[in-house]
Amino acid sequence: MPGPSVKRKTANIRHNTVGERAMTIKSINGCIGCGECVKSCPCDVIRMDRGKAVITYPADCQICHLCRMYCPVDAIEMSPEKSIPVIVPWG
Ligand code: SF4
Ligand code: SF4
Repeated sequence: MPGPSVKRKTANIRHNTVGERAMTIKSINGCIGCGECVKSCPCDVIRMDRGKAVITYPADCQICHLCRMYCPVDAIEMSPEKSIPVIVPWG
Protein backbone atom coordinates (compact mmCIF):
# COMPACT_ATOMS: atom_id res chain seq x y z
CA MET A 1 0.00 0.00 0.00
CA PRO A 2 1.53 3.33 -0.98
CA GLY A 3 2.34 5.86 1.73
CA PRO A 4 0.72 9.27 2.02
CA SER A 5 1.36 11.65 -0.85
CA VAL A 6 3.91 14.31 0.04
CA LYS A 7 3.81 17.45 -2.06
CA ARG A 8 7.22 19.09 -2.40
CA LYS A 9 7.16 22.80 -1.61
CA THR A 10 9.47 25.09 -3.55
CA ALA A 11 10.31 28.75 -3.27
CA ASN A 12 8.08 31.02 -5.30
CA ILE A 13 10.38 33.98 -5.72
CA ARG A 14 10.24 35.74 -9.04
CA HIS A 15 13.50 37.68 -9.23
CA ASN A 16 16.22 36.21 -11.48
CA THR A 17 14.25 33.07 -12.02
CA VAL A 18 15.22 30.17 -14.21
CA GLY A 19 11.84 29.41 -15.72
CA GLU A 20 9.57 29.38 -12.69
CA ARG A 21 12.37 28.66 -10.22
CA ALA A 22 14.55 31.03 -8.22
CA MET A 23 18.31 30.85 -8.81
CA THR A 24 19.29 31.28 -5.20
CA ILE A 25 22.93 30.24 -5.07
CA LYS A 26 24.78 32.97 -6.93
CA SER A 27 28.52 32.41 -7.11
CA ILE A 28 31.54 30.64 -5.60
CA ASN A 29 34.74 32.64 -5.21
CA GLY A 30 37.86 31.69 -3.25
CA CYS A 31 37.09 27.97 -3.05
CA ILE A 32 39.83 25.87 -1.41
CA GLY A 33 38.37 22.59 -2.66
CA CYS A 34 37.33 20.96 0.62
CA GLY A 35 34.13 19.52 -0.87
CA GLU A 36 31.95 20.30 2.15
CA CYS A 37 29.36 22.18 0.10
CA VAL A 38 28.99 19.26 -2.28
CA LYS A 39 28.46 16.86 0.63
CA SER A 40 26.01 19.17 2.38
CA CYS A 41 23.79 20.08 -0.57
CA PRO A 42 20.65 17.92 -0.49
CA CYS A 43 19.80 18.80 -4.09
CA ASP A 44 23.06 18.02 -5.91
CA VAL A 45 23.40 21.63 -7.07
CA ILE A 46 27.19 21.79 -6.65
CA ARG A 47 29.87 19.52 -8.08
CA MET A 48 33.65 19.43 -7.85
CA ASP A 49 35.53 20.22 -11.05
CA ARG A 50 39.34 20.16 -11.12
CA GLY A 51 39.53 20.62 -7.38
CA LYS A 52 37.04 23.49 -7.14
CA ALA A 53 33.34 23.66 -6.40
CA VAL A 54 31.16 24.74 -9.29
CA ILE A 55 27.47 25.50 -9.43
CA THR A 56 26.15 22.82 -11.75
CA TYR A 57 22.37 22.72 -11.35
CA PRO A 58 21.35 26.16 -10.01
CA ALA A 59 17.68 25.68 -10.84
CA ASP A 60 17.52 22.87 -8.26
CA CYS A 61 18.62 25.09 -5.36
CA GLN A 62 16.10 25.00 -2.51
CA ILE A 63 17.47 27.96 -0.53
CA CYS A 64 18.48 25.84 2.45
CA HIS A 65 21.85 27.67 2.88
CA LEU A 66 23.60 24.48 4.04
CA CYS A 67 26.38 24.88 1.49
CA ARG A 68 27.09 28.40 2.68
CA MET A 69 27.03 27.38 6.35
CA TYR A 70 29.45 24.48 5.81
CA CYS A 71 31.94 26.41 3.68
CA PRO A 72 35.02 27.09 5.86
CA VAL A 73 36.14 30.11 3.83
CA ASP A 74 32.77 31.76 3.14
CA ALA A 75 33.23 31.31 -0.59
CA ILE A 76 29.57 30.86 -1.48
CA GLU A 77 27.42 33.87 -2.22
CA MET A 78 23.65 33.71 -2.33
CA SER A 79 21.50 36.19 -4.18
CA PRO A 80 20.82 38.75 -1.42
CA GLU A 81 17.30 39.53 -2.47
CA LYS A 82 16.42 35.88 -2.06
CA SER A 83 18.06 35.23 1.28
CA ILE A 84 15.63 33.88 3.84
CA PRO A 85 15.99 32.65 7.43
CA VAL A 86 17.57 29.19 7.55
CA ILE A 87 14.94 26.46 7.58
CA VAL A 88 16.29 22.91 7.53
CA PRO A 89 13.47 20.38 7.06
CA TRP A 90 15.78 17.40 6.50
CA GLY A 91 16.93 14.84 9.06
S1 SF4 B 1 21.36 26.57 -0.68
FE1 SF4 B 1 20.96 24.40 -0.22
S2 SF4 B 1 20.04 23.57 -2.08
FE2 SF4 B 1 20.97 25.53 -2.64
S3 SF4 B 1 23.02 24.96 -3.39
FE3 SF4 B 1 23.22 25.42 -1.19
S4 SF4 B 1 22.98 23.45 -0.13
FE4 SF4 B 1 22.24 23.21 -2.23
S1 SF4 C 1 32.71 24.36 1.02
FE1 SF4 C 1 33.64 26.25 0.24
S2 SF4 C 1 35.84 25.81 0.11
FE2 SF4 C 1 34.79 23.85 0.34
S3 SF4 C 1 34.49 23.11 -1.78
FE3 SF4 C 1 32.65 24.26 -1.21
S4 SF4 C 1 32.99 26.38 -1.89
FE4 SF4 C 1 34.98 25.31 -1.89
